[in-house]
Order: sequence, then structure tokens, then C-alpha cells
Amino acid sequence: MVPAITALVADDDKATAKLVEVLLNKWGIQTVVAHDGLEALEVMMQPAPPSLLLFDWEMPGYSGIELCEKIRQIDTTNPPYIIICTARDATEYIVHGLNQGANDYVSKPFNTQVLKARVEVGMRTLELQSRLVDAMVRLDHLASFDELTGLLNRRALFERIHEDFSRAHRAKDNLCFVVCDIDWFKRINDKYGHPAGDAVLRQLGDLLTQQLRPYDRLGRIGGEEFLLLFSVTTIDSAVKVLDRIKLAIEKHDFVYEDTHITATMSFGATFIEAGEQIARVESYFKRADEALYRSKELGRNCVTFSDNLV
Ligand SMILES: [Mg+2]
Repeated sequence: MVPAITALVADDDKATAKLVEVLLNKWGIQTVVAHDGLEALEVMMQPAPPSLLLFDWEMPGYSGIELCEKIRQIDTTNPPYIIICTARDATEYIVHGLNQGANDYVSKPFNTQVLKARVEVGMRTLELQSRLVDAMVRLDHLASFDELTGLLNRRALFERIHEDFSRAHRAKDNLCFVVCDIDWFKRINDKYGHPAGDAVLRQLGDLLTQQLRPYDRLGRIGGEEFLLLFSVTTIDSAVKVLDRIKLAIEKHDFVYEDTHITATMSFGATFIEAGEQIARVESYFKRADEALYRSKELGRNCVTFSDNLV
């Protein structure tokens, strides 16, 4: 939904400011008034500032043009639409105003119909911009998160893990890189149906999230396969963490409608020692995945480390 647009009218001439405010209100636009440039800038520094700005050119504090420059420096995904209202309607002034970041200008004294048409152009532009920003946010979310579990998807996860590696390297943290997979997931789907399988995946995502710390990494990297990355002091403590998670899954009552489902997971882990030359994410993935394969061979519902330390 497009949020309601609020306007800011800045004019040191109180009668003009009032007139514009009354007109905007009449056109259904909520309006804030400022009587000099400083006051206007203060309004713009507040959270959720107005998005349609009508600035007088000459004002104490900052001129409308100086305000344009300052406001254009604010980093925002939703820049405001600025109309300069001025008696200076010579070409060089208009060009200067637009070059400084104004979207449009209106000559003073106002022709009400022209002002209304210009304001409407601004409103349409702001609405379009707001829809585009929403669409971008949605696309960004879809591109990074798995729709079913809400966890990071493989691509986004690998990108973040790459950053985690650099951070851990600087902080001299040991890391445990884990690939885990639901045992006999096909049997769950075959026995209870795919919606039940999806419910297990969703609940498992929640369960894994609860088992980890907020700053640990977790994502779904494929059908029934998840990836975990957490910092840990020793291999022994990593084993304890994974055993605890394995047990929590084994004991968990997965529920779909009236059906109670049990599931277990196999884990393949690799330990990354602080200070070791960090390789590509893919190479740790390969190591952990090979360990996972051994967990499957060993009868599932178990944890295996890549170098057979456990
Ligand atoms: Mg003035």
C-alpha cells in the first residue's frame, strides 16, 4: 500500500505559507509549515519526514535552493519531491534551481490551477517511486530468503558466510561448518504427503533457529538440506552443540494437522581453525558434505566430522 503523502511548506511570508497550506489541505494533503530554512531542515531530519516539499526561494536560515542541496545529500531510498516557489522566474534561476535538486518550480504569485497540476504531478511521481521501492524490497527478499522456511537461501547464505569467514579470521575465532540433511525425507513425503513434508521443513527451520544463537548462520541450501555455521572454542564443544541439536530434532514432535511425525537428521561437519588460511566456501562445503555422506553410511541420525576426529 502507498502511504499517505505529507507535504512541507516552507515560506517566510506567513500569508503565502497559510494560503498554500489551506490549498493543500483542500486537495486532501496533510501539511506541515515552516517559516524559515532552518525550521524546514529540522522537519526533514525527523524520522518519516514529509515527501512533497514546497520551498520558497528566499528565506532566512537557508534558501529554498540551499535546502534542496542539503536534502539531496540525505541518503534515502525514497527521496522527496521538491517544488521551488519563486518570483525569480528568469531562465537562469529556473535552471539553477533544477540543477540543485529541485524537481519542479512554480512562479509566484500562484495560479492555483497550475499549482494544483504541479502538486498532482509530484504526488504521482511519489506514488510511483513508493511502488518501485516496495517492489525492490520484495524482490530483494525473494532473492535472499527461502519462501518455505523463511531462512536464507543457498546463494545469500554463501555470500554471508564469505563475510563471516573474514570476520572470524580477524577475531581469531574457530568455526564449525555443518551440512545437515533430514533422514529418509522421501519416506515422510510418501507416507504423509508433500504438505506434511513442507510442515516438517518449516518446523525444522524454526527448531534449528531456536537451537542456535542469533549471530550464528543458518540457511536452507536445498530440498531437505540445511547449512549451519557457528563460532566455537574447541572441536569438543562443537560436538556437544551438534549432539544437542541432533537430540532436539529426534525428540521433537513435528505436527501436520492431526498427524504427529518424527524425524531425525544426519550431520556432516568440518572444523575451521582460527588463523588457518581461509579457502573458498565451496571447499568447506565439500568437506562437510563428504562427512555428511559418511553419517548416512553409518546409519543416519549422527554427527561426523570431516577429519574423523569423532
Ligand atoms: Mg521569501
